[in-house]
Amino acid sequence: MNIHEYQGKEVLRSYGVAVPNGKVAFSVEEAVEAAKELGTAVNVVKAQIHAGGRGKAGGVKVAKNLDEVRTYAEEILGKVLVTHQTGPEGKEVKRLLIEEGCDIKKEYYIGLVLDRATSQIVLMASEEGGTEIEEVAEKTPEKIFKEYIDPVTGLSAYQARRVAFNINIPKELVGQAVKFMMSLYTAFVEKDCSIAEINPLVVTGDGKVMALDAKLNFDSNALYRHKDILEYRDLEEEDEKEIEASKYDLSYIALDGNIGCMVNGAGLAMATMDIIKHYGGDPANFLDVGGGATAEKVTEAFKIILSDENVKGIFVNIFGGIMKCDVIATGVVEAAKQVSLSVPLVVRLEGTNVDAGKEILNQSGLDIVSADSMADGAQKIVSLVK
Ligand code: ADP
Ligand code: MG
Repeated sequence: MNIHEYQGKEVLRSYGVAVPNGKVAFSVEEAVEAAKELGTAVNVVKAQIHAGGRGKAGGVKVAKNLDEVRTYAEEILGKVLVTHQTGPEGKEVKRLLIEEGCDIKKEYYIGLVLDRATSQIVLMASEEGGTEIEEVAEKTPEKIFKEYIDPVTGLSAYQARRVAFNINIPKELVGQAVKFMMSLYTAFVEKDCSIAEINPLVVTGDGKVMALDAKLNFDSNALYRHKDILEYRDLEEEDEKEIEASKYDLSYIALDGNIGCMVNGAGLAMATMDIIKHYGGDPANFLDVGGGATAEKVTEAFKIILSDENVKGIFVNIFGGIMKCDVIATGVVEAAKQVSLSVPLVVRLEGTNVDAGKEILNQSGLDIVSADSMADGAQKIVSLVK
């Protein structure tokens, strides 16, 4: 789960990570009021959306007085920001962070992320802050330093010191930078983060080390033990189809392609996406209906797939184990009745009650192309949507 920058900074502040003072505002009046309360000479008006790259897209403005705060708040609130992370459709700004302006001397990058290859959290840092880290990684990989963290001992001070030296934090501020990294690590572990990215981390004119930006992502499977984090969830920032799917306990991820997939089991779902790609198609989603799905759940899953305008064809690929083929078939037929099916549908059923399932589909009167195998089904749907 993703949260806003201002929320991320609240979390970090509670762990003693240095962040500038700031307040969230939902309207222009609130923005001006927030700036008054902060009482600092310079304020920064920052668009709050679940995406980075706001600065370049005009979503971060430095205001030198209250009139400028008003002007920028009017300009940014309600604006659709298109950044390299939002996709071409962009995201509408509904919240602002009014933050004290910082006298930046230099910008750095600090990030914590789980490295699946080593099963360790890795601390990444670079002197090239402010810019996209992906770009640094590509052009000047030698400027990124990594420390792998032993889960038993946690981040050691010597590792944090080594990072601080590697990225050339001024000597007199190394102590502050070390404390910053240690606190960030504690927050990451205690809150079950999957990403904590501070870009930029800054050294200020008056000798402080602080986080000017904060991107925190959380492991959704651990949210049950973080009610406080769950309260930060902003449904308006999430994909409607994904929200709908979560109500029915379906694992659904929207993708950019045009072939809707309905599959049971995460492994089969991944393999189905791969085989569609293999035959030159593009999946519109990842969808695992799970093992114990009911006909109702399958119906909802089908409706969610069909609500995606990009979907030009559907591939149902089911291996009936715990899930029975007749249940899937009933769900498909039910859904197709409720929402008119205007795109080609390829179904591959195998496993428990497969004959009963095929019978239900055959008698439904629906225009269904049946497939004998996964490869056959993938080839059929790819050629049908072309
Ligand atoms: P994004 O990564 O979405 O572009 P950031 O929060 O990183 O947004 O802001 C972009 C840039 O704006 C920063 O690299 C920094 O130079 C400047 N900036 C952000 N917040 C402040 C602040 N409080 N004071 C001064 N400059 C800021
Ligand atoms: Mg940033």
